Amino acid sequence: MIALEHTRMWPGAVADALVAWQHATLPGTADRLFHRCLCDECTGDAPRRRLQQALLALPPWAGRQLYALVLPIDRYSISRR
Ligand SMILES: [Zn+2]
Repeated sequence: MIALEHTRMWPGAVADALVAWQHATLPGTADRLFHRCLCDECTGDAPRRRLQQALLALPPWAGRQLYALVLPIDRYSISRR
């Protein structure tokens, strides 16, 4: 189970994607307000896709834990669009 995370994603990749998704979704930093970048990384699409891959690749117990972290951000993202 742990091997899966280490082969398909480098350690910390999931945490990085989660932080990136959070940053893209939660109210903008000064950086985003000034630049208004619309690339996949900055809008959150790319990190959210990585999280989705992780959710599918992880064993169910770990997937549930991760989803519990992703869900509030998803809800916020939907409510904002
Ligand atoms: Zn960008």
